[in-house]
Amino acid sequence: MGTTAHAEIIAIGTELTCGSKLDTNSQWLSRELESLGWTVMRHTTLPDELELIIEELQRAAKRSQAVLITGGLGPTLDDLTREAMAAAFHQPLVRDDQSLQRIEAMFTARGRPMPARNVVQADRPEQATAIRNDWGTAPGIMLRVPGNNTHQHCLLAAMPGVPAEMRPMFEHLIRPHLLDSGIQMCRTVIRTFGYGESEAERLLDGLTARGRNPEVGITASEAVISLWVTARAASAETARRMCAETELQIRERLGMAVFGEGDAELHDVTAELLISSGQSLALLEGAATGGQMAMWLTENSATASVLHESLVLPVWGPDCRLETWPQYARDLMQGYFQAHSCDWALLSSPVEDQQAPGGVSVRRGMVALASAGELETVDVSMSGNLAIFRQRAARTALNLLRKQLQSAKSS
Ligand code: ATP
Ligand code: MG
Repeated sequence: MGTTAHAEIIAIGTELTCGSKLDTNSQWLSRELESLGWTVMRHTTLPDELELIIEELQRAAKRSQAVLITGGLGPTLDDLTREAMAAAFHQPLVRDDQSLQRIEAMFTARGRPMPARNVVQADRPEQATAIRNDWGTAPGIMLRVPGNNTHQHCLLAAMPGVPAEMRPMFEHLIRPHLLDSGIQMCRTVIRTFGYGESEAERLLDGLTARGRNPEVGITASEAVISLWVTARAASAETARRMCAETELQIRERLGMAVFGEGDAELHDVTAELLISSGQSLALLEGAATGGQMAMWLTENSATASVLHESLVLPVWGPDCRLETWPQYARDLMQGYFQAHSCDWALLSSPVEDQQAPGGVSVRRGMVALASAGELETVDVSMSGNLAIFRQRAARTALNLLRKQLQSAKSS
């Protein structure tokens, strides 16, 4: 096997395709598979339609070394997974005695007679193995079938759709059969701020190329760009080393834009830098951030401890408009650091809406970083939703401080 073990997931149920239920099983299973070194190449969601399921099972077995299936193992006529597996791989359905006894015992234990229809849950394709279900009535099904020229075998495992049954069945009884993917995975997430997605990709210059190992993926959320580095290798040690090398290249290329790893938040990183240097911060927020910075920094008492004071100012002054705000802020800050024993202040301006050509409305605002004798302003105008505007403005402000503190630390 090379450095990829391909898996896919098929979620079955008309309640999923019609939109009444969300397929959360595939998300959960993907994470499990990835952590075992498998690469999940496809999620397929199908309605309770026999022909569609048969077709998909046959195709999936040709494409992937492992196929996980959820749903359609119940006792009703629309539960077709057993039948589809048997038909897809040209096997008769047989009744599994042990499964039947367990299902009967399960009903007895609940003090109810077993409905006649439930016997079908003991059926499995002839060459398959029934998987015990200690969490419900429907046993799972495991079946190994021939693959194609890229892989000799495909392991198919069907589990109940009910997440509370599917998860323990996977953990206890399916996962042990998947451990031999032969591949170790290492993943790190690098968090950056200050570039757009396409700008980041340009600077990464080829690192995000498809098919590269380690693979580098880019996702953007609330103005933070995360780079997902995934290395796959035969040993964990090699995967870790490959990951670290790519991480170093990313840090070299993106420099100060990198603020942390994993799920690090910009405000936490900034607060930690303040704490470790024994410095404090004042927040004077206008409508551009409207208290967003204070909200983040007061999330816990450790980060809150860096705050000297925090004010939300609905108006900055009798006739302070956006154009005059930088001067107004500068004047205000002049005496501030003499009167207050704090090292830094982050400020945000009022907001003004502007109708740009083409009917786009732009929300205009600024943020500033102040220290004794200095004030740096940044325009944070953008179009779109107020909450997104504020988060981006607040992060832009925090990032000004984070960069100052980080360069002071490293020099
Ligand atoms: P059982 O044998 O326990 O009855 P089953 O295999 O027949 O399970 P289904 O009847 O297809 O499963 O689904 C039962 C319930 O499980 C659904 O109503 C739905 O709420 C939930 N479910 C099914 N598939 C999924 C999925 N992919 N993601 C999340 N929930 C699901
Ligand atoms: Mg169903």
